[in-house]
Amino acid sequence: MLTNLQQQPADALLALIKLHNDDPRADKIDLGVGVYRTGQGETPVFGAIKAAEKKLVETQDSKAYLGPEGDMGFVHALMPYIFGKANPDMDGRIVGMQTPGGTGSLRLALAMAQRAGVKRIIVGKPSWPNHNQICKDLGLEVFEFNHAGEDGKVDMDALRSALAAGGEGDAVLLHGCCHNPTGIDYAPADWDEIAAILAKSAVLPIIDLAYQGLGQGMEEDAYGLRRVLGAVSEALVCYSCDKNFGLYRDRVGALYAVAKDPAELGAIMSNGHALARANWSQPPDHGGAAVRVVLEDETLTAQWLDELDQMRERMRQVRARLAEAGKTGGVDLTALGSQNGLFSIIPFTPDQVQAMRKEHGIYFAGSGRINVAGLTTGNIEKFIAAVAQVTG
Ligand code: PMP
Repeated sequence: MLTNLQQQPADALLALIKLHNDDPRADKIDLGVGVYRTGQGETPVFGAIKAAEKKLVETQDSKAYLGPEGDMGFVHALMPYIFGKANPDMDGRIVGMQTPGGTGSLRLALAMAQRAGVKRIIVGKPSWPNHNQICKDLGLEVFEFNHAGEDGKVDMDALRSALAAGGEGDAVLLHGCCHNPTGIDYAPADWDEIAAILAKSAVLPIIDLAYQGLGQGMEEDAYGLRRVLGAVSEALVCYSCDKNFGLYRDRVGALYAVAKDPAELGAIMSNGHALARANWSQPPDHGGAAVRVVLEDETLTAQWLDELDQMRERMRQVRARLAEAGKTGGVDLTALGSQNGLFSIIPFTPDQVQAMRKEHGIYFAGSGRINVAGLTTGNIEKFIAAVAQVTG
């Protein structure tokens, strides 16, 4: 039987890690892997998380099963940050559950939408590749619209027509902030319009918020999501704590459903729980518990927010330096200054991507997506000079 399985293409980013690891040059630069790095090139555990983990070790008295919904203290503690302190459960219209990372949340959201009758997912192009992969694996049709134009701005016309052509049986998957891979986000005025369109549409909104706090700030990065939820009667929200709490491998996420009527929430979440049972049974506990401990403690919460501010500030400084470089060889880096999050795309040709690797030891995806957090005061000038040389 197993001989029937065909070789699958290697994951391009994992192959890139190997290429970078095998490069003996001391001044090589890794702009591929999607993790935050400090000015020293490290991806440390947050101080607030370390403190919470210590507390957990001392106080946790059981590791008995919690159930497919995971740690509901964690799920509730996040809600004021996502949905706003004023009305964190939208008058009882929101219910959530813990998931293994944002990926687990997306898997459940898309499977749940499918159970509800959704057949087609409207998604921007490019998007995080796993969006399409999960849809494909579930047998959902994907309808792509152009996310951004060559001018580096969101292509609102493309989104408008994709939504206008959509209806019952469709869902739209939107990045709440820090668009991966382009860094090009909707402006508040765009979100106002998107919310107004969705208010009159039968298309189900699914909002993926995987980088809250890494763009403009915790509140600012939730603007679009809150605007849409304020306008529509139903939506799904996929949340990841893996970047904004630095928990990557601990796999920490949550799925929230917004219903027309609180009375529907039980049935909706019973589907989430059944799908979780069939996929992973229960989410891993440790990371979510650590986030809960942080959010239940004012001092640790302040420390976490401060650490998050420092991350965001560092990325803004890197982006400001790239923008200041402006026209660099054959490309213009100015737009990177106003983009958000870990990623941006520089329009390198395939030959230029290879030249950056071979001649300069600078590694990033073939699409030209760079992780700006891989740049530090120690290597950014080398990067800018290499871009100038390779594209000039
Ligand atoms: N959504 C987007 C847009 C992402 O970029 C990622 C991670 N790279 C995720 C969701 C999922 O993150 P994780 O599963 O690591 O929490």
